[in-house]
Formats: sequence, C-alpha cells, structure tokens
Amino acid sequence: MSVPELSWYRRDAYKHSIEYMTFVADHDSNLVQVPRPIYAIARFQGFLPTDARLPDCTTGVLYQRRILVERSTGPERARFTLAHELGHDALHLECNPADLEQTDLEEHEADSWAAGLLMPHHSVAQALQTANIEQTIARWAAWEHHAHLITRLRRDFRVSLATTLQTLVDMGLVQGYEPWYLMFGVLDDYERALRRLRGEGLPS
Ligand SMILES: [Zn+2]
Repeated sequence: MSVPELSWYRRDAYKHSIEYMTFVADHDSNLVQVPRPIYAIARFQGFLPTDARLPDCTTGVLYQRRILVERSTGPERARFTLAHELGHDALHLECNPADLEQTDLEEHEADSWAAGLLMPHHSVAQALQTANIEQTIARWAAWEHHAHLITRLRRDFRVSLATTLQTLVDMGLVQGYEPWYLMFGVLDDYERALRRLRGEGLPS
C-alpha cells in the first residue's frame, strides 16, 4: 500500500491520537474496542459530555471539564464532535487554556486527531483484510454499490461518510486527492460516481 505524504500537522495529530489511545488502553482495555466508546473515553479522561442545543454553526463546545455536543446532527457527527473537542484538550489547551477561539490550523489538527481516534488505520486495514486495494474514488463508489463496503466500514466504526472517505484518502487507498482540504471534493466525486452507478441523473 502506498501511503501519501500527509501534512505534518495531520501526521502529528494522528500519531498523537494513537499514543493517547495507548495510554487509555493501559488503564482500561474496554475503551479501545471498535467502535470506540467515545462518551466513555471522555468520562475516563474526566470530562462530562452533555448533549445540548447549540447556536447555528456550532457543533461542540469545550469548557473546563464539560463538553457540550450538538445532537441534532446525528449520532455519528456527535461522536466526531466529541472526539474533536477531546483533541483540542489533548493538543491545544495546555499551551493556552484561556484561549477558547481556535485557529484554522488547530481545527484541522483536532479533526485529524478525531479521525485517528475513531478510525485508526491499522483497524481499518484489518477490517478490509487486504493490503493492496489502492483505488480511485469511482472504484470505491462501485464497491459501495455492489458490496456496501463503505456502509460496512461506517457501521463498524460508527463514523460519517466524510470521516470514512478521508481515512481512505489518508491511507492511500483513494488516489489523486490531497488529504483534508479537498475532502468535500472527494465526497462530491464519490456521490457523483455512486449516482452514475445507480443510473440516476443520466442524460436522457
Ligand atoms: Zn474545534
């Protein structure tokens, strides 16, 4: 499998999340199962995760030991949000605990950290049970169409389509895209390919 060169901040944040889970595993091996019991992991780290109604465009708030999570976005997104806020705590708050406004870089780092925590590459590789499946996005859509592969990954790891595709890009399994920044481009291509396979939206 050829692994793409990830931006340093994605690579570092990802590595940090793996170390974080190694620490968690040393204390409670139940917390490292897949899908990750992210609410239990947050409580283990001394946080009180709380479902909430948040203002528009806000999906999570980390304040002292409370993490407010917007639930209306669906369970997968809520899980990612909680992991993202834990990422801020692990990566950023030690440097500047008073700073509640995060920079774009910190947001990308927290997203990478969350993806690494919820979908560690070694577990994904195990789930796929094959080493050499580098594919284009259209091919992945074909697999989804025929074998529900992505649906299975999403169900096993309890993550969104965006996190699943981004992880496949990061692992080098989907070709031709810069990680992260073009995530929504990846999603668009994936959905277009899937529609084509289903015979939808074809010119008559
Ligand atoms: Zn954030």
